Amino acid sequence: MRLVIVGTGYVGLVTGAGLSSVGLDVTCVDIDEGKIAALNDGVVPIYEPGLEELMQTGVRHGRLLFTTDLSEAVKGAEAVFLCVGTPMSDDGSADLSALFAAAKQVAESAEGPLAVITKSTVPVGTASKVKAILDEHGAGKGLTVASNPEFLKEGNAVKDFLSPDRIVVGTDDENTQALLDKIYRPFLLREFRVLHMDVRSAELTKYAANGMLALRISFMNEVANLCEKVGANIDQVRRGISKDQRIGSAFLYAGVGYGGSCFPKDVRALVHTGREHDVALDIMAAVDDVNRKQRGVMLQKVLDHFDGDVKGKTIAVWGIAFKPRTDDIREAPAIVLIEGLLAAGAKVRAYDRAALKNARERFGDKVVLVEDEYAALDDAEALVLMTEWPEFRLPSWDEVKRRMTDCVVFDGRNIYREETMRDEGIPYYGIGRGKGVTYDRD
Ligand code: NAD
Repeated sequence: MRLVIVGTGYVGLVTGAGLSSVGLDVTCVDIDEGKIAALNDGVVPIYEPGLEELMQTGVRHGRLLFTTDLSEAVKGAEAVFLCVGTPMSDDGSADLSALFAAAKQVAESAEGPLAVITKSTVPVGTASKVKAILDEHGAGKGLTVASNPEFLKEGNAVKDFLSPDRIVVGTDDENTQALLDKIYRPFLLREFRVLHMDVRSAELTKYAANGMLALRISFMNEVANLCEKVGANIDQVRRGISKDQRIGSAFLYAGVGYGGSCFPKDVRALVHTGREHDVALDIMAAVDDVNRKQRGVMLQKVLDHFDGDVKGKTIAVWGIAFKPRTDDIREAPAIVLIEGLLAAGAKVRAYDRAALKNARERFGDKVVLVEDEYAALDDAEALVLMTEWPEFRLPSWDEVKRRMTDCVVFDGRNIYREETMRDEGIPYYGIGRGKGVTYDRD
């Protein structure tokens, strides 16, 4: 069976490589010529554990191809998965221009029956609009639509794709449903977890899932902020509530707020959809609001520590990506921190295992980006941890203190123990852990 993936970003590449791994013939298409040239040279343009190996296998067996020629790719294919970006517009809505452009081109190029599957995250009602485009530009060809939202997590995307919790398929066309069942069955041999539903419910499921996850994060961040005022510890509170089976333990970690290319835009798009239908999604609006504030929390802690004056001070930042195991810095809380520090006149030295290239494109020479976590500390007066990469978990505190001119640690992910920092004599601020460990070092 031949399939086409449109858009070779985090979702498209993982989907393409994943589908090719079970024996399907997949052509991945992108409008970015540089990206396709790199892919054809064997260069994987993103950092995603396990992806390179999966892609190499597909390419070696001739089952995974890359091209910019969508029209050619579509010929003879049975299904096209639209995986293009749906970034946030100025008003908070999802920008669907890339999706609609791709749908139009697919419709014009199709030579016969073809299932067009929206895998990009798109607002409820989008599949109907895609269907209208297919009907207008591909009338009589037998083009069908389905919504098949993607739930993979960056950093764990390959595993998530190959072994999904569930697959959501929304379509009112029986053949399209049967086709998608066939495509996904190899990934669900032990237990078939394809959930069939109507198109609109499928579209909304994706937003509801991301909305719920974002809500848990913002809720814990609010409670953490209260903890700091009342002398409680968010880690203890989390342990206390997560043992309740109705609550569970996932997504209950307080920190510097959520980022990435999904939660921020999807929460805002959901609020926007509500507004369009005269439904005030107050909880989602509050989730977004809390998160915007939370992303500024570390900057505020640093400024407070230095009595509002960081001018000329060197601040080290560990971690730039919005979470570990990815190079994605879109909407990363570290960006908010670094921009705030620069605006306040500080000098920033930063390290990230995977995101240096993206950070370089973003900051140019405004930030000193280094290839080694300890090199970020040279001449620094404060260290701010923003992404919990494993190498930050057990650093040599002697080396940290030796490198820095003065030492205070701001831990945006609560990975260090307060006792350790006290023993090391390092002033320390976490999130939601009372007032932090602050005292004079002699
Ligand atoms: P991305 O920005 O990494 O990649 C999108 C790709 O689409 C780019 O390579 C771009 O060049 C290409 N593109 C744009 N217009 C095109 C066109 N007309 N024809 C061909 N290619 C085109 O995006 P992503 O992170 O992979 O996300 C894609 C979609 O999946 C979004 O809707 C996103 O919300 C959703 N999603 C993302 C994730 C994630 O973790 N990144 C998870 C689930 C769902």
